[in-house]
Amino acid sequence: MIKFLDLREINSKYRDEIVQACTRVIDSGWYIQGAELKRFESGFSAYCGTRHCIGVANGLDALTLTLRAWKELGKLKEGDEVIVPANTYIASVLAITENRLKPVLVEPDEWTYNLCPTKTAAAITSNTKAILAVHLYGQLAPMPELMALAEAHGLLVLEDSAQAHGAAINGTKAGSWGHASGFSFYPGKNLGALGDAGAVTTNNDELATTIRALANYGSHKKYENLYQGVNSRLDEIQASMLNVKLKYLDDETIIRKSIAARYTSEINNKNLILPVDKKAIINYSSRHVFHLYVIRTENRYAFQEYLTSRGIQTVIHYPVPPHKQIAYEDFNELKYPITEKIHDQVLSLPIGPALKEYEVEKIIEVCNNF
Ligand SMILES: *Cc1c(COP(=O)(O)O)cnc(C)c1O
Repeated sequence: MIKFLDLREINSKYRDEIVQACTRVIDSGWYIQGAELKRFESGFSAYCGTRHCIGVANGLDALTLTLRAWKELGKLKEGDEVIVPANTYIASVLAITENRLKPVLVEPDEWTYNLCPTKTAAAITSNTKAILAVHLYGQLAPMPELMALAEAHGLLVLEDSAQAHGAAINGTKAGSWGHASGFSFYPGKNLGALGDAGAVTTNNDELATTIRALANYGSHKKYENLYQGVNSRLDEIQASMLNVKLKYLDDETIIRKSIAARYTSEINNKNLILPVDKKAIINYSSRHVFHLYVIRTENRYAFQEYLTSRGIQTVIHYPVPPHKQIAYEDFNELKYPITEKIHDQVLSLPIGPALKEYEVEKIIEVCNNF
């Protein structure tokens, strides 16, 4: 069976270094808020090109705590509208509703699966205060246009960069476009820990200080609490794993892109819609880092079964959009035809730094014979 994503294989490549890093932490006797976290925060902010990186417990917390910090700083208040793509992973929406802000779900562009400036502009009302721009599947949202729109309307922009570590437009990376950005280092992400981890990047000093306090019981100084905060920290063991893996992120991205380039140029089947940014893929443009290679087909489940029967594991990202979830009952009657069509048709082919060339060739051949 060709696995969708072989995490064991991916991490075994760095096994010696990871074990050394882990041993170093164990022997240091210091497990929370120490040297490994500091090193990761400065390494990752340098990587993204931002002044600050604040390690937190996971990607959802990175988004939730950023919105919460803007509330504490008086930039957002309960009930304010936040624009978010309707086809995102539910975590983006959870971060908004956890803060009692109002998610305004907007249909994505049908071909890039990201927010489009025109539909985003049409959704802005006098209550709109922020845009949560998701770089879905690893492709940057149209950030130059969205930032211009935000500036014209005085909106905050939070990037959900959980799937887009290292993606860039004209050299400016995910995490440094918006006023802040949330990252996840969940094991399956392009930069993955060996457990849960996340971070916020920003150039804003005040925001960074506030998020740091909120994530540490609301405390900016030991035993003094400014806010009713939470405990959301990136521990030393996970930070040490990330310090190892950050060094290899760009090499792994190159592998992802070359697999994507092969899929895009060699899969020729009129029943399958491939990611459309062909030019970008073939030029190895940096806009898309292919966290996922998502194709669409009208007969999605039949295609998935066919691939399974030929030894190829696939995953659906995602089968049910947020507005159709029981958790968001109030939204269940809303109609988002493009989003619903995407959710009915998408299927993710195996992609990742451990996928072998012969596996890529087999996947291409099997897809072409469908
Ligand atoms: C993974 C993911 C998150 C959440 O990250 P966790 O670390 O799992 O909490 C948020 N948004 C998107 C788009 C994601 O893919």
